Amino acid sequence: MARRTPKSEAQFTASLRPLQRTCPQCGNPLWIAYHTRRKIVTLEGIFQLRIAISQCHTPTCARYHVRSHPEEEGRWALPHGEFGLDIIALIGFWRFQEHRSVPEMHQRLQARGLVISGRAVTHLLHRYEELVSLHVTDRVRIAARLHEQGQVILALDGLQPDVGHEVRLSWCATACLKKSF
Ligand SMILES: [Zn+2]
Repeated sequence: MARRTPKSEAQFTASLRPLQRTCPQCGNPLWIAYHTRRKIVTLEGIFQLRIAISQCHTPTCARYHVRSHPEEEGRWALPHGEFGLDIIALIGFWRFQEHRSVPEMHQRLQARGLVISGRAVTHLLHRYEELVSLHVTDRVRIAARLHEQGQVILALDGLQPDVGHEVRLSWCATACLKKSF
């Protein structure tokens, strides 16, 4: 049965602040320029994120007034994405592990109480495929760098995956995507 809760109604809130406190260019403290809001639909419910945007206030710095989003934001969703990475990962798992069709996945998500269209499921499936493709491409790039430098330091801060390996693949690919923020 379809949920009657309006799509835009957030059930939870979370505040995101940048971990980086100093400008990577000049070393001076970063200032919070403003806060913005973003709603993300996840498997746990709809979150209203309050996001602190920071910037350097040193006029002579090359990064003067360059705005930075909190590092954690990339863990929630893709840039401009309405649905969380957990949903994208689950769709990828259903599609490639269980070979579910879009209508089947749509039905399953609705059964979990999500307000989502079939078209959105298709869109998220395409995003999943892009993430996997990016992950594979990035592995080639990392391997080349590793060969060059002899070592590589890698830091990931993804959530603990709870289903198949496709999900883990997604989280890794997402970590790669964070550089686009
Ligand atoms: Zn600076």
